Amino acid sequence: MTTLDAAPAVVREQSPVDGEPCVLLKLGEVVLKGKNREQFERRLADNVRTAVRPIARVDVIRRHGVFVVRTKDADVPTVDRLAERIGDVMGIVWAHRAWRVGKDLASVERVALELMEGRTGSFAVRSRRRDKRFPMTSTELDRHIGALVAQKYGQPVKLKNPEHTLSIEVDRDEVFVFSGGLPGQGGLPVGMSGRALVLMSGGIDSPVAAYRMMRRGLRVDYLHFSGMPFTGPESIYKAYALVRELDKFQGGSRLFVVPFGKAQQQIKSSGADRLAVIAQRRLMLRTGEVLARRLRGTALITGDALGQVSSQTLANITALDDAVELPILRPLVGMDKIEIMDQARRIRTLSISELPDEDCCTLLAPRRAETRAKIDDLRQIEKRLDVGELADQLAESVQEHRPVYGDAAAS
Ligand code: ATP
Ligand code: MG
Repeated sequence: MTTLDAAPAVVREQSPVDGEPCVLLKLGEVVLKGKNREQFERRLADNVRTAVRPIARVDVIRRHGVFVVRTKDADVPTVDRLAERIGDVMGIVWAHRAWRVGKDLASVERVALELMEGRTGSFAVRSRRRDKRFPMTSTELDRHIGALVAQKYGQPVKLKNPEHTLSIEVDRDEVFVFSGGLPGQGGLPVGMSGRALVLMSGGIDSPVAAYRMMRRGLRVDYLHFSGMPFTGPESIYKAYALVRELDKFQGGSRLFVVPFGKAQQQIKSSGADRLAVIAQRRLMLRTGEVLARRLRGTALITGDALGQVSSQTLANITALDDAVELPILRPLVGMDKIEIMDQARRIRTLSISELPDEDCCTLLAPRRAETRAKIDDLRQIEKRLDVGELADQLAESVQEHRPVYGDAAAS
């Protein structure tokens, strides 16, 4: 995560100000109203508390459109860690490390001067009042504090694109003063949209697909198919490492692993030939559907992008949808590989995905894969295989893992 306009070290080391360091959160999707908004805020506050539990016990105070995160005996390094961690919680747009001071002008002046000390370059003061009873208007406050800082340190005021922004937010019981902040993920709080199962390979795409759906409020579980017993366990280690990284966005992640090698061999010997890849993907989806129902998930998620590989043509995607009743969500369907890789880098899964492994799909890749799979042909093959029974057996054979963000590498 990048720090925008971070406070200089000199500010962090000293804290003689008569305020309390805290984290001020700006929430996403503010257009939500009524009952939805209530649900959004409640869920988000819970998710914030859970995410930071390893760092500190916090109070999350809900105000109109913002949250204040406070902790007893807060010091600046702890608050920095809290802000950093909260930046991964879905539903937050900005995390500001702020000073919480009394509602009097003298306190605001003191903290403002303190925060701007040692900075060079232009600045602007941006005030807003959530409590309109404060005796000065926002503009008066901007002018007053701006003049004070300019006079003391000689920095020029610049309203458009200043190098530093000093924010002053007047609230019901206190005033928050801060400069800069950490950009959050935006989106909706995890859990608000229900639960779904991600088909998770060791590749680049599926982790990004998981991220994008968590960001729309889904809580996700993960299902990985390994080529075991005909491949080594490397792909499982990768899936584990990926889920552990992605766990920072929701907590409590579960990874289910199915040894898929024998089923793949059955597909191969069924004479599926050019249809083997699609038949295999359909079996993965069917197995996913059985497992999702058991976990009370109501959708499957994959990393398919239209046209990216031969199994992802429109005809083949249609043939995949035909295999299951649950909706298949494909958040990457319209994205280019470059865009997907950029996102993978940002969420820090790319380097894990790029580690070498033996993907189970290479076990039965035919010389030429079908790009226009016919559903009737697939059904013929599946009849010979008794896929319903096979999917049930595979879903029975899952091994469950609980990768936790921040845990030492287990692989
Ligand atoms: P990825 O980068 O996610 O591996 P891909 O470009 O390699 O995707 P495919 O191999 O065709 O594309 O897989 C498409 C989707 O099918 C994946 O995004 C994933 O959701 C699912 N999938 C493929 N292989 C596996 C596997 N071994 N276990 C679980 N899901 C898989
Ligand atoms: Mg793949």
